[in-house]
Amino acid sequence: MNNIAVLYDAGQAVLSTFDLDEVLQRILGIAHDYFHLRNVAILLLDKQSQQLYVRSQVGWDEGEDKVRWPVGQGITGAAALKKQPVYSPDVSHDSRYLCSAKSTRSELAIPLMVRDEVVGVLDCQSDRLDHFDSETIDLLTLFSTQASMALQNARLYSLEQQRARQLQAINAIAQQTTAVLELEELLNRVCQLVKDAFRVSHVSLFLREDKDLVLRSHHGTLTPRIPQGGRFPAANEPWATILTGSRTMVESDLRSATTMKFFAESASRLRIPLVSFGQALGVLALDSSQPDAFRDGDLESLESVADICATAIQNAHYVERVKQLAYLDGLTGIFNRRFFELRISEEIERARRYGTGMAVIMADIDQFKRLNDEFGHVLGDEVLRQVSSLFNQQLRKIDVVCRYGGEEFGILLTQTNAQHAMNIADKLRKIVATWQFPGVPRTVTISAGTAAFPDQGITRDELVKAADAALYAAKVAGRNKVCLGIAARANAAGS
Ligand code: GH3
Ligand code: MG
Ligand code: MG
Repeated sequence: MNNIAVLYDAGQAVLSTFDLDEVLQRILGIAHDYFHLRNVAILLLDKQSQQLYVRSQVGWDEGEDKVRWPVGQGITGAAALKKQPVYSPDVSHDSRYLCSAKSTRSELAIPLMVRDEVVGVLDCQSDRLDHFDSETIDLLTLFSTQASMALQNARLYSLEQQRARQLQAINAIAQQTTAVLELEELLNRVCQLVKDAFRVSHVSLFLREDKDLVLRSHHGTLTPRIPQGGRFPAANEPWATILTGSRTMVESDLRSATTMKFFAESASRLRIPLVSFGQALGVLALDSSQPDAFRDGDLESLESVADICATAIQNAHYVERVKQLAYLDGLTGIFNRRFFELRISEEIERARRYGTGMAVIMADIDQFKRLNDEFGHVLGDEVLRQVSSLFNQQLRKIDVVCRYGGEEFGILLTQTNAQHAMNIADKLRKIVATWQFPGVPRTVTISAGTAAFPDQGITRDELVKAADAALYAAKVAGRNKVCLGIAARANAAGS
């Protein structure tokens, strides 16, 4: 009767908390108070390595609880292997015995089971020979089933808590990413948030660009073997399968794998496709320095995160496109005047800071009104498009060709002086004058005026005014001509 009461109390005590450490403390406390054991330990089983390790103990010699040993070794290992209590009444005559306290004379090990699985061992040692009678062994065995249950509850609870934390993280990621419309910043933010929320070593984002996958952003503690911006064909396996099959890929142990690792210390890896509206935009990759770091529970949460990221990336792409459209001319596809105004200030500032010079060309098609009248507006439009594309082809990528208005173009040349700008303007004049425009059975010409920083002006207004005046001079001089502007400041000074 007394024994049943003991067991009932013990069960209540261990089952009344969900905190793992507290459960362990209570189990040890009951072993100590009710069963008068001064040497007790709870060992847990590491499923991956099939090793037992000490999670909590009292009465062991110093440092002895740091060792791990495989299932099958020691009295405790034997209990875990047999899935039954193992009692050694005299350890000095037991070849299985592993010493953890010099005073021990007898040892009882009881497996902690959840359903059919061993999760750990309750280990009881005594400094008296044959200390445990059969009734105590039975009672401790019964108690151990309650202890197992409590351990399992605590584990489930901590899993639930982890789930709740992840849900919170997903929410935070959703909130923080949908507001970020600048792609670069968004990608960096996603890597950081995912790394912190899921406690992995490294997070990286690969985005599709044409036929390649490009490492656009990464964050973490591992050593990268690919530079930021590094690219490789999206058709490479297993990337192609991940992208086209929209399938998540888990690799639980990369330590001896021969596959390409992007991070030197990566021991396990997870790759999730970023899919938005059925289109795979790229891959979210998580790397861990620990093998088997990704559990089924994480997968679901991470896939939700990937969905959110894909939508946010799609939005950022869209915004980028809208931004571009706002600076593009609808008819010709080159930049518009708004972009000219934005960039001219930047270019002047750069020229001022680095002393590299810059120049402006204002170019205008001659007698365009007449051309429209003669051949019609549609053909006039086509001429505008072709002149735009001739300009773009003739100039460097870093130069900026804009449709300034009607049939007038504003061109920004970086790192260019006045003489150089005149040569370039004349090159443009010549190519247009010799170009055969389909449907236009005569020559089309342009006139142009140029002005360079700092010779013809140092502000936006001075430069544009000087180039405009030079363009006007070219028209007056008979068209199909190029003129250099007059220094605005020299004029103002009257010299
Ligand atoms: P100039 O040699 O002095 O520059 O003479 P111009 O006829 O080229 O100049 P003007 O400013 O008198 O006329 C410009 C013409 O350009 C008038 C307008 O109909 C035409 N134009 C402006 N925008 C467009 C366009 O988008 N498409 C077409 N087809 N014509 C346009
Ligand atoms: Mg004109
Ligand atoms: Mg004009």
